[in-house]
Amino acid sequence: MKRTMITNIGVMVSGDLERDIIDADTLVIENGMICAIGQRDDFDLKDMETIIDAAGSTLIPGLIESHAHPVLLRSGPFLRDVHLPELGKSKVYISGWLESNMHAGVTTILSAGELTVSGRGRSALAAKELALAAHLVFKHLRYGGVKVHAGALFLEKGLVERDFKELAEQGVWLVAEIGLGTIQTPEEARPMVKWAHKYGMKVLMHTGGSSLAGSKSSGAEEIMAIKPDVVCHINGGPTAMSMESIKRLVEETDFTLELCYIGNPKVLFESLKIIAEKRQLHRVICGSDTPGGQVFSPTSMLQMVRNVASMSDIPASKAVAMCTGNTARIFGLNTGKIEVGREADCILIDAPLGSVGQDSLSALKAGDVPGICMVMIDGEIVAMPSKFTPTPIRQATFRKL
Ligand SMILES: [Zn+2]
Repeated sequence: MKRTMITNIGVMVSGDLERDIIDADTLVIENGMICAIGQRDDFDLKDMETIIDAAGSTLIPGLIESHAHPVLLRSGPFLRDVHLPELGKSKVYISGWLESNMHAGVTTILSAGELTVSGRGRSALAAKELALAAHLVFKHLRYGGVKVHAGALFLEKGLVERDFKELAEQGVWLVAEIGLGTIQTPEEARPMVKWAHKYGMKVLMHTGGSSLAGSKSSGAEEIMAIKPDVVCHINGGPTAMSMESIKRLVEETDFTLELCYIGNPKVLFESLKIIAEKRQLHRVICGSDTPGGQVFSPTSMLQMVRNVASMSDIPASKAVAMCTGNTARIFGLNTGKIEVGREADCILIDAPLGSVGQDSLSALKAGDVPGICMVMIDGEIVAMPSKFTPTPIRQATFRKL
């Protein structure tokens, strides 16, 4: 069986928060999966079809975006043309959006609800059909190779248990941010969350100030009453809840705590301090909350790694885990870690030219966004180098044997 080898890796970052660095310089891939990890001398070249020379750059798992609002189909004016007419001029096209994300190191995207679909209906039937349509479309749509888990159900008035059962049978497994549908109070949301859990779905909840006209703000009290799996953007999407609320969520619950790119940087910094003190970093995941009226930045996930690494005492290799392995564990995905048996989704990164950092990890600590030398999805090279990120000091190359 022909294999791909990535060798001459300077630092191998696992995506695992506890064992964040792997003592190895070579990774071997077969049939799209990681099949061996070790030192160069452990492997025989005659088994290989492709050799990638990492040139001393850093290997990390492909980034997992925990909070996107996928644009459905090619059309694009945001929902903003319904709710916020002044922002309605922006257009995002699905192919460009996904390929841009891929060039910025994102290999998997999770939907927090397809709210960028223009004219989204607000009935139970519309919510159900939109979730199913988005789920099915993105099951087959792989622009840039990116894996998009879309079709997140908005909780709207009128949904009954049978709807959750039927959707789960069709493969829908995400509930969009509670608070963005017509279901707003804990009394209304709680039974639906129970149905979602009964059928194996993961439930997200919007928190902090309202992001859309018609949505409301929420803090610890309501979140604890509704019991979602993921507390979205604790640092705001874009407006953060109070630090008292965040403290309570850290100390009194075991919910997943999400930090978002579009949120409040001061609260991101303060939250990380509390979470690290309480040894709860395994509960942290990162997302962008894009594309949206506030921002469309394909490099937001890479910037989140940089933000966490540079604005806290957390080592950069552990910041990577919050954008990869933690998210994979919480959502049950077989990617996000450099580990035998995982999907071979990984990226090579390095300090950008001119950085005070000498390698990717010291550049991240210094607050610089690294350059991406290569993006690989399911064992295939999809970008080498990236079109978007700064030029890396070290350039990876590949050759066929
Ligand atoms: Zn939100």
